[in-house]
Amino acid sequence: MPKKVAKKPLKKFHTRFTDEDPSVYKEPAPLNAKSSGVEKENPLESMMERFDKAAEILGLEQGIYQYLKTPVKCVIVSVPVTMDDGRIEIFDGYRVVHNDILGPSKGGIRYAPDVNLDEVKALAAWMTWKCAVIDIPFGGAKGGVTCDPRKLSQRELEMITRRYTANMLDVFGPDRDIPAPDVNTNEQVMAWVLDTYSMHRRRTEPGVVTGKPLILGGSKGRREATGRGVMHATLSGLEKLRISPNKATVAVEGFGNVGSISAASLYEQGAKIIAISDVTGGYYNEKGINVEAAIKFSETHGNLLEGFKGGDKITNDEVLTVKCDVLVPAAREDRITDRNAKDIKAKLIVEGANGPTSASADEILDSKGVMVIPDILANAGGVKVSYFEWVQNRMGFYWPLDLVNQRLEQAMKDAFDRVYENGQKHNVSLRLSSYILAIDKVARTLKLRGIYG
Ligand code: NAD
Repeated sequence: MPKKVAKKPLKKFHTRFTDEDPSVYKEPAPLNAKSSGVEKENPLESMMERFDKAAEILGLEQGIYQYLKTPVKCVIVSVPVTMDDGRIEIFDGYRVVHNDILGPSKGGIRYAPDVNLDEVKALAAWMTWKCAVIDIPFGGAKGGVTCDPRKLSQRELEMITRRYTANMLDVFGPDRDIPAPDVNTNEQVMAWVLDTYSMHRRRTEPGVVTGKPLILGGSKGRREATGRGVMHATLSGLEKLRISPNKATVAVEGFGNVGSISAASLYEQGAKIIAISDVTGGYYNEKGINVEAAIKFSETHGNLLEGFKGGDKITNDEVLTVKCDVLVPAAREDRITDRNAKDIKAKLIVEGANGPTSASADEILDSKGVMVIPDILANAGGVKVSYFEWVQNRMGFYWPLDLVNQRLEQAMKDAFDRVYENGQKHNVSLRLSSYILAIDKVARTLKLRGIYG
């Protein structure tokens, strides 16, 4: 159990600017590569460092502290698949249920070459805190398969998904554990999860996954929800910083579901998107990137920006440190660390991705006066609308897009205000404030329920 810490004064949210310009072209970092030769940090350690700080401020008792830091279930399965060339290949599959005190556990499934148990544990815990912050009756979980989807055919992807789901039949369920899309998984993957689960249950169970196609019981607005939520969080942050959205310059790292829709939504609000990136590298345009054109380009080029002519090519790392008002990291974990935090020039960081900032960068950003809207708040719009989808599945009655978007906007604003006010009360950053709110809610629920046995 951590020791009590002295309260630090709340930092002013300002930043210094330099006149550096990103210009030099370097080879883009490959998918999930270590950046600049620095070892990838452990997201579980980053999560625990923040958890410990919040637990200390809350004065969490030892037993509750131990309970909340330990996942309730870690399942590792082998996923054998007959590949297109007839070989049998074995993939590793994971599902971690971190906590189910507030309700059924909820969290995405990710397909990537570096998926591992520690990463999935960290992501599962973040889901617990995220569901608590955004005020939905769900616990936290996460799953993944260690594979490189770029090297898989559509049939192989389907086989991996179906076998992984079949292996998780005792874990998944509309009242138990509900997966959703994450990195490299999409509506089609969710449709396969739904179908495999439903075949075994002998009835169609739309509520077993969220983020599924509309025609299968998906919710209007779910695909855009995380990015739209990032946009609402950004507007709340900009308001506190007294920056008008149509005067704001924005850099977005990652151009998948979250990154592209965050960029498009902020563009719609009048912000100038000056840098974007994906696994193929960064693209910079001082005058502003035409986001619609970038999305169209990516959609017609295998979901990649390689060859996009709407900006000068820069590196993935340079996208993080360009001179801008807002930085939206929306790719992977640990992109902002003690290695590059000192070079960040944004006044506001809105974490579209889960865990893009390692704990080692927190103090540096804090001392620079950068306002950071943490992942468990900034990207919680996705799980909020996943919850709406699950509710609609249970009602068998579907909401119009306006209603979904209106409820999402209200939820993001309310959550930001709660976190901001709590931050003022405890004199802590928005990140620590989010953790304090979330851990306190789950801890109080645990005390009410008690320990069975
Ligand atoms: P995605 O697979 O749709 O997109 C990921 C993007 O990141 C791709 O454009 C990829 O090319 C890019 N990328 C990968 N490595 C990169 C690098 N080193 N530099 C720059 N770009 C890189 O995934 P997504 O669903 O958009 O998820 C992105 C992040 O957001 C993840 O951390 C995920 O956990 C988080 N998230 C997603 C959702 C959701 O609803 N999809 C919800 C909450 C949080």
